[in-house]
Amino acid sequence: ILRIYINQIKEDEQINGHIIILEDITFLKKLETMRRDFVANVSHELKTPITTIRGFIETIQENHITDPQTLERFYSIIYDESDRLSRLVNDILVLSQLENKGGFDRKFEVLELNVEIKQIFDILKFSAEAKEITFLLTAEKPLKLELVADEFRQMMINLIDNAIKYSEPGKPVEVVLAENEEQVIIKVIDQGYGIPEKDVERIFERFYRVDKSRSKEKGGTGLGLAIVKHIVYNNGGTIKVDSHIGEGTEFVIELPKNED
Ligand code: ADP
Repeated sequence: ILRIYINQIKEDEQINGHIIILEDITFLKKLETMRRDFVANVSHELKTPITTIRGFIETIQENHITDPQTLERFYSIIYDESDRLSRLVNDILVLSQLENKGGFDRKFEVLELNVEIKQIFDILKFSAEAKEITFLLTAEKPLKLELVADEFRQMMINLIDNAIKYSEPGKPVEVVLAENEEQVIIKVIDQGYGIPEKDVERIFERFYRVDKSRSKEKGGTGLGLAIVKHIVYNNGGTIKVDSHIGEGTEFVIELPKNED
């Protein structure tokens, strides 16, 4: 897509010539479309829980429901939906902060990655235990990297939380830490459902889910991997996925080491 500017060159009120400027705005237009799609998606995603909450409250009021069992069931749906709403708003905020901050205002500190991962295992202990999922950390030696702590934690929590969500009970989730000359390599490996080949490319898009009802049932917002991708890119890294249906999924993140 080209934007064209035409300007006359005048000298003594005489038109002497024209300047024509052609600007390629394909990328800008694409950004604009993406932004518009995102706003439409956000509105839709926010509306769904709000409609459900309102619907159940209206049903309780209009039908004068007093049966304790029915009420309990309805309240629990209302609670879950408001929970989803709050997770959505939180993820949208995190994404927009990641986009706006880009380079500055980020507090870097030296993180001991092994210690960090252990702490994240602790944070996710309860959801793992509920599914009898065991965590494993494999690392040849302790690794250090200068990063923004909140970003690193958010990235790992999203990946490990997905590994738990998209695995059958009883399966292990493994994090592998390794390094080469220039990079630190972090792998998150599960033996879960896997991702169909046609979807692998799209899972980092905002609100893209392979199985919408499964994601919603597990409390997903559809933004987790978009956030992970942002964090990886903000730190100059790359992320790859290797997945096989019914066998499991492996996310591989490579982050550049800090120059000493
Ligand atoms: P969600 O909130 O739906 O989990 P994400 O952005 O975190 O959103 O992930 C997008 C989609 O990618 C998920 O809905 C799921 O279908 C798929 N996915 C992500 N991680 C895994 C995994 N470890 N195993 C299988 N599928 C996964």
